[in-house]
Amino acid sequence: MKSRDEALALDAADPLAPLREQFSIPPGLIYLDGNSLGVMPRAAPARAQQVVAQEWGTGLIGSWNSAGWMELAPRIGDKIARLIGAGPGECVATDSTSVNLFKVLNAALAIARADAPAGTRTRIVSERSNFPTDLYIAEATAAERGLELVLADSPEEIRALLDERCAVLMLTHVNYSTGRIHDMAALTRAAHEAGALTLWDLAHSAGAVPLQLSDCGADFAIGCGYKYLNGGPGAPAFVWVAPRHAERFWQPLAGWMGHAAPFEFTPGYRPAPGIRRYLCGTPPVLSLAVLECGVDSVLAAEPLGGMAALRAKSLALTRAFADLVESRCAGHGLTRVSPRDDAQRGSQVCFAHPTHGYAMVQALIARGVVGDFRAPQILRFGFTPLYLRYADVWDAVEHMRQMLQGEEWRQTRFNQRAAVT
Ligand SMILES: *Cc1c(COP(=O)(O)O)cnc(C)c1O
Repeated sequence: MKSRDEALALDAADPLAPLREQFSIPPGLIYLDGNSLGVMPRAAPARAQQVVAQEWGTGLIGSWNSAGWMELAPRIGDKIARLIGAGPGECVATDSTSVNLFKVLNAALAIARADAPAGTRTRIVSERSNFPTDLYIAEATAAERGLELVLADSPEEIRALLDERCAVLMLTHVNYSTGRIHDMAALTRAAHEAGALTLWDLAHSAGAVPLQLSDCGADFAIGCGYKYLNGGPGAPAFVWVAPRHAERFWQPLAGWMGHAAPFEFTPGYRPAPGIRRYLCGTPPVLSLAVLECGVDSVLAAEPLGGMAALRAKSLALTRAFADLVESRCAGHGLTRVSPRDDAQRGSQVCFAHPTHGYAMVQALIARGVVGDFRAPQILRFGFTPLYLRYADVWDAVEHMRQMLQGEEWRQTRFNQRAAVT
């Protein structure tokens, strides 16, 4: 991409362009943070209003049956399954990513260790650069069970740790900070050859990159509802379990919604068949209803080529952005962190700056270009192909060039840390 005119021509020829109409995006804003909080689908306010005013306001308790509230979690799970290469009945939308991780990590450990000789399968293997909540949950789980959390610093180190000591390989598919993608099929195969199970966090993958959970032979997966799935702030997350494992274990949060017959009110736990046993308590109906609008906004790409088409556009956007920043913003101390190889890059681009990354991101936000900062030095820009245009890429880089040229980041107001970065 060499000019704004070229960007406009690419937009005019983009078969996915009409999908932007689904969203409410503040005028003038270039939103490069859909990997942290997706934008609002236009359908969401009316759906929330319907649930509040009619289903709750008028239908009251009868709406559990008449409005199908109990079916939301499995129905939305089935829709998400279409985006992650899984089948119907294998996924539910529920709880948070952190909570779902706790459930599946414990299930995976129980299965991996079930028949293990003493002294084997004592490790959870992950990466030091994994998202902190994943590491915290794993650390707590390991401590609780008298196991060990072992962290690798590279894909080579991960492979070296796959032996009879490894019970579960727990990885985030697309790294939240660098955007680097793990080879899910290859690592799953290597883990299985070592007798271990795999657990994939799809927080930065679902709705952003095509996934083939079933074909890869993956064992467990979790993912986020409020990032590329546009489900709204704090939206319920999802959990997927390979059908071969689903009924082998009671997950540790064995609440009544995961019971085979919750309304029999029996004192003993009898897990529901299949993935439903991964539910815990009463579903957040409002949040689920709005999440469904977000998931539908991604499924709307299906007739236009689906995830493959979204991925092709995402790569074109991230490639253009990274190349333009390198060529037009040179000389300001920014280093490209995200992989140059398309196959290894998720739907985001990151640059590092040794000292002023935070202030630079704030100065860009003041210009209407929203990215975010990830300590200690990452400027992170997420690209959601559902609603971003090539012209947005061009304009974002032009803002960045002017901001850096004018050293706008030096202003005091851009150097004061807010609670959420
Ligand atoms: C965003 C993200 C989460 C978020 O977890 P919550 O429970 O929703 O706070 C977890 N893991 C990864 C890898 C993430 O990127």
